[in-house]
Amino acid sequence: MSKNSEKSRVAIIGGGPSGLMAAEVLGQAGADVTIFDRMPSLARKLLLAGRGGLNLTHSEGMQDFLPRYGAAAERLAPAIEALDPDALRAWSAQLGEDTFVGSSGRVFPKSFKASPLLRAFLRRLGDLGVQVRTRCALKSVSSGSLTIETFEGVEETHQFDAIVLALGGASWPRMGSDGGWTQMLADQGIAISPLRPANCGMMVNWSQTMRERFAGAPLKNLALSFGGQHIRGEAIITQGGLEGGAIYALSGALREEVGAQGFATLRIDLRPDMNETALARKIEAARQGRSGGQSISNVLRKGAGLSPAAASLLREAGPLPVSAQDIAARIKDVPVRIIGTAPIARAISTAGGIAFAEVDENFMLKRLPGVFVAGEMLDWEAPTGGYLLQACFATGAAAGRGVAAFLKT
Ligand SMILES: Cc1cc2nc3c(=O)[nH]c(=O)nc-3n(C[C@H](O)[C@H](O)[C@H](O)COP(=O)(O)OP(=O)(O)OC[C@H]3O[C@@H](n4cnc5c(N)ncnc54)[C@H](O)[C@@H]3O)c2cc1C
Repeated sequence: MSKNSEKSRVAIIGGGPSGLMAAEVLGQAGADVTIFDRMPSLARKLLLAGRGGLNLTHSEGMQDFLPRYGAAAERLAPAIEALDPDALRAWSAQLGEDTFVGSSGRVFPKSFKASPLLRAFLRRLGDLGVQVRTRCALKSVSSGSLTIETFEGVEETHQFDAIVLALGGASWPRMGSDGGWTQMLADQGIAISPLRPANCGMMVNWSQTMRERFAGAPLKNLALSFGGQHIRGEAIITQGGLEGGAIYALSGALREEVGAQGFATLRIDLRPDMNETALARKIEAARQGRSGGQSISNVLRKGAGLSPAAASLLREAGPLPVSAQDIAARIKDVPVRIIGTAPIARAISTAGGIAFAEVDENFMLKRLPGVFVAGEMLDWEAPTGGYLLQACFATGAAAGRGVAAFLKT
């Protein structure tokens, strides 16, 4: 792939899912590809993702899938349709990692892990002649040129025919992506929406009792509501608030409300499978007990079926009402005052990033012709469920195709 007999030279900065997929597309197109990454090894966040069971994508139809990307759906659609969930599963299978659909519709490799898939992927890239330079941090970039700093502190400037930036968001900076690129690109006039935590824990001003006795305790079988969204699932009490799948699912909406109002009120149903009347009856019966005069803790445990952590959460909402009916009503609608998001360093993903107005339909930066971007660097967010990796792989492939087209012109 070149205008003359020489192979085109392409640099990819960032060896996460999006950068590696761009490398594959470009390697297959015949480019001379070098991946630079600041870490000693590639795709550390992908490996981290694999620790909890790598959720590669989701099996739902496109009409449900694409809206998960909210306002960014329209801009991401062509890339995701070009490398859709079925194509991603086929790609994984070709790398020796067959996938299956879990009960929630989420798609996982049968091994559940990221490491075998990554190993096979890197082997394929090696076979395509893709070079890898680790411990090289990007310092500056312009059309056709970039400067990296090596581990030894030496700055090198290299010329390339095209460059793909796939530097990730700002969550889990220990894995390599720290969002440090924002300043570098903002200095060149590129509009970037501030990086914010997504799929993250939320902060609550717990009482000392809650912090000291219940940090780390799970809250199982909840129904959470906020802003018209209702989520069934679990949460974990932390020193500073709440985290876990059900919280992550609402975290985008909660984050925006806290940003606008200073706080948000999350509502939790601690007994979603029992209606209020039945619950009140059980509470009343437990209150009478065999000998009568049961303690309120016993009533909540035996009558309402609450764990000590759930009972403590209930009490955080204020003094308990007196009547069984009112206690039941509170259990089914506990208000929790959210005062912030947990730090981005612990978030699953990042909201914000390079505005879509800054890139063309091939993800090339309009202000830096020949420089393409992919993955979490772009301004989109999505819930957990495989949507993150799907968009990263798909935009990586799209940027790769964009580079190939650019180099032919
Ligand atoms: C705990 C956890 C679990 C997750 N589980 C899932 C899951 O099951 N399913 C799912 O869909 N998503 C999951 N994700 C999200 C998913 O891992 C990310 O969306 C994805 O890795 C982002 O890919 P990326 O290529 O955009 O960036 P990254 O994977 O972050 O890769 C960016 C690369 O760029 C390098 N880099 C950054 N800055 C520089 C620089 N200045 N110079 C050189 N190199 C640089 C980094 O070292 C890194 O290797 C999870 C995330 C976390 C934290």
